[in-house]
Amino acid sequence: MAVVPVALAGRAYDVVIEEGLLSRLGTAAARFLAPYGATRKVPFVADSTTHRLYREGIEASLGAGGHVAEWFVVEPGEDAKTWPVLEQLTDWLLAMGVTRSDHVFALGGGVVGDLVGFAAAITKRGCGFVQIPTTLLAQVDSSVGGKTAINTAAGKNLIGAFHQPALVLIDPLVLDTLPDREMRAGYAEVLKYGLLGDAAFFAWLEGNGARVLAREPEALAHAIATSITMKAAIVAADERETLDRRALLNLGHTFGHALEAETGFSDLLLHGEAVALGMVLAARYSARRGELADADAARTVQAIAAAGLPASLPALGLTCDGAALVEHMRHDKKAEGTTLPFLLLRGIGEAYVARDVALADIAAFLDAELNGAS
Ligand code: NAD
Ligand code: MG
Repeated sequence: MAVVPVALAGRAYDVVIEEGLLSRLGTAAARFLAPYGATRKVPFVADSTTHRLYREGIEASLGAGGHVAEWFVVEPGEDAKTWPVLEQLTDWLLAMGVTRSDHVFALGGGVVGDLVGFAAAITKRGCGFVQIPTTLLAQVDSSVGGKTAINTAAGKNLIGAFHQPALVLIDPLVLDTLPDREMRAGYAEVLKYGLLGDAAFFAWLEGNGARVLAREPEALAHAIATSITMKAAIVAADERETLDRRALLNLGHTFGHALEAETGFSDLLLHGEAVALGMVLAARYSARRGELADADAARTVQAIAAAGLPASLPALGLTCDGAALVEHMRHDKKAEGTTLPFLLLRGIGEAYVARDVALADIAAFLDAELNGAS
């Protein structure tokens, strides 16, 4: 078992990583179940997939302590992160009589976690919640850090709140049922941690990435624990992204978001796949500026390609030009006129925020990439 503390004054919490944790939920989360008493029902939110797969085990584990799970089930996918679903969920929580000292349990990927976190942030002006992330992406990224949100017509994650969970319970065994494509998408965020701040971890992933993707227990546990330890440290240092620390987590994301926008945030390109290609572009652009050795850019591309993630722009088959991709970037929350802060690389494990990047130069670079520059 690994326990990673998230050291936030007044809101400190633990991330517990352990195989089989889900079947020991009653004990692992006992502290947050206790207020419900033996007869009270405990609110659980899942999507229909995680509900179908893990409901029975959870009910058995809770039952041993006399607790009963009451379920709110959403359809899988981003449509759960919307006002109507949020309204239904908060109405349901109020009807259950949830109080500020109670905890809502989120069983699912980033979608369920973001929705439940935001619902908890605003129910009774803030009740507690426990994250039980079931995708690799949620286990290494979204379940920790307290960013919660829903999507609106204007874009993804534009309405939300910072609200930290009280506990994060990670059971790597649940990844056995995760589709391989979702596993690879989450793995892109694992590679991101190595690339942005831990060269030794990146090198370890070059040698062991296939074992992680194959869910070999030891390799998987190491990848999750290393990733979440870095995320926890960054969040503790810069909870609200007011310094450049937390911004480092956006490596690959500015390019990635433009690609997601261009492909309509559809199944054509999952978020993690977009981030993977975004990291390729960040590395190649850094090399073009003469800041990253060509060999390190090539290592980045290789690590991403080896994981079966998209590693070249032409492979996407986009019909747009660089200017169209840059146009998507202009909508970024941090865009200012003709420039935008970009996460670039000085080396493997050395990301930094560049504030002198001209969007016109990015457009020219993307045109060359779209035409298969090598
Ligand atoms: P997701 O929650 O949509 O899950 C992906 C798919 O996997 C779904 O179809 C789900 O039903 C299925 N699934 C989940 N667990 C499973 C399991 N164990 N076995 C089989 N199938 C399973 O997607 P995601 O990639 O986990 O999360 C994406 C969301 O996370 C986005 O909305 C994004 O904005 C958000 N996010 C938030 C943060 C944050 O800091 N809050 C960070 C990154 C991403
Ligand atoms: Mg991401």
